[in-house]
Amino acid sequence: MKQKKCIIIGAGIGGLATSVRLAALGYEVLVLEKNRLPGGKMQQIERDGFRFDTGPSLFTLPHLVTDLLALGSTPSDLTFKFNKLKNVCRYFYDDGTIINVPEKPEDFAREIEIKTGEPAANILNYLKTANDRYQSSADLFIFNPLKNIISSVRNKKPKELKPMLKVKPLRTMHKENQISFRSPQVIQIFDRYATYNGSSPYKASSMLNMISHLEHNEGAFFPEKGMYSIVEAIFHKALSLGVKFQFDTVVNNLISEKNRITKVITGNDELNADVVVSDMDVNMLYRGPAKKLKMPGSVKKPDLSSSAIIFYWGMKQSFPQLDVHNILFSGDYQREFQSIFKDHQLSNDPTVYIFISSKIVKADAPEGKENWFVMINVPPGTEKVNQKWIDQARENIFKKIHRTLKINPREKILCEEIATSKTIERNTGSWKGALYGNNSNSIWSAFLRHQNKSGKYNNLFFTGGSVHPGGGIPLCLASAAIVGKEIEQL
Ligand SMILES: Cc1cc2nc3c(=O)[nH]c(=O)nc-3n(C[C@H](O)[C@H](O)[C@H](O)COP(=O)(O)OP(=O)(O)OC[C@H]3O[C@@H](n4cnc5c(N)ncnc54)[C@H](O)[C@@H]3O)c2cc1C
Repeated sequence: MKQKKCIIIGAGIGGLATSVRLAALGYEVLVLEKNRLPGGKMQQIERDGFRFDTGPSLFTLPHLVTDLLALGSTPSDLTFKFNKLKNVCRYFYDDGTIINVPEKPEDFAREIEIKTGEPAANILNYLKTANDRYQSSADLFIFNPLKNIISSVRNKKPKELKPMLKVKPLRTMHKENQISFRSPQVIQIFDRYATYNGSSPYKASSMLNMISHLEHNEGAFFPEKGMYSIVEAIFHKALSLGVKFQFDTVVNNLISEKNRITKVITGNDELNADVVVSDMDVNMLYRGPAKKLKMPGSVKKPDLSSSAIIFYWGMKQSFPQLDVHNILFSGDYQREFQSIFKDHQLSNDPTVYIFISSKIVKADAPEGKENWFVMINVPPGTEKVNQKWIDQARENIFKKIHRTLKINPREKILCEEIATSKTIERNTGSWKGALYGNNSNSIWSAFLRHQNKSGKYNNLFFTGGSVHPGGGIPLCLASAAIVGKEIEQL
């Protein structure tokens, strides 16, 4: 029988994972990628002896990667190793409080009680609820096509919907956290999970409070060779299964006839395939190669997730007071989210995230030095981004670090690279530099996300962080698994 052909547009994590799944199903797979290297938002840069992962830094649900690497009959020539972090994160507050997050929930609860007076039992109850919610809804909401969720909700009798409504999804994350805890510092820790899909805790549904389950109950992990080794492992697995990659290749157009995509047009070629999978940000896809296809409402007027400014600093010394993942909290969290989603401005007192992979991967910085990835959340959009905007962001970060850590970073930086919403849009094709496609600032967001299979073209599929079930490495891998299953059923 003739081998079926698949074209995948984009070698982000979703595109790479889909390529492995389809090759394992026996498809002849060609991945077209506009960049020179695979990874999309998961890139790395090297400068003056420092290596920086440029995008994702937090790694949860590692089995989704190892399950993928175990597919097919051909082993990859690369081994992928990772370890569980003993300390998940270190939180710093303006008043000098420092809270560590040890891997065991009981130890975390004890730390919280000592540092904030919040009873340990409140933390453990909350994490149990997050676990229960995840176990009862993840399969339907994360690992199944969106249409299954919609029909499952539609087909339920009011009585059967009761347990779902017990969660009170109309409450915001913040409201629920306020009800659950007395300490404002603890509320802030759990509110922060809204940023894991670029949303605001003051708007997103309390359903999303289950995100904390992943880090606290399942654990946070880190690859032995850094985040980019996830990309390398999946890329090599794809190569071992015979997937072909064409880099430096921009897809300009999709041609359709009746209910099929008949041609994929690049600068040099007109290609055809039995199935086409887009790993492009959908907001860009419909404004680019698919501009002749009908644009869904959620794409026409997208409510975008946040973007970021990231400074990659090679630091001339190491800082024992910092861990791998560090959060320097804003003194006014509500105001910060208002700046991002309402005022569309930089916050004067941003929450600063400092990620230092060289704490684990010693080769990521010269001896005695550290590689700092310093990020703040900013509004999506490219119009306002100029040198003044970047300088203002850097200044705000300097002030925050100085106030909280008593370090003057200005004197410690050996080299600097910068990412903004403009460079993120240019380098990864994400509309307005939004990190996760559309945000989840409404109870309906999950239902409005773009589906993984086209409703009109029966050989067109969508994977990656801008479609169902959402952004972030685990959800992109879940989207690839859904696409794989849908195509297997064709
Ligand atoms: C700064 C930052 C921090 C993040 N932190 C985390 C984190 O800690 N943990 C986590 O899990 N997630 C995190 N994320 C989110 C995560 O990186 C993304 O959800 C995920 O990598 C997106 O993968 P994707 O499959 O959607 O593809 P993308 O990474 O968006 O890649 C799409 C690919 O398509 C290519 N492409 C676009 N247009 C075309 C075209 N016309 N022709 C050919 N190719 C094209 C692009 O070049 C790109 O390679 C972060 C993201 C960023 C940017």
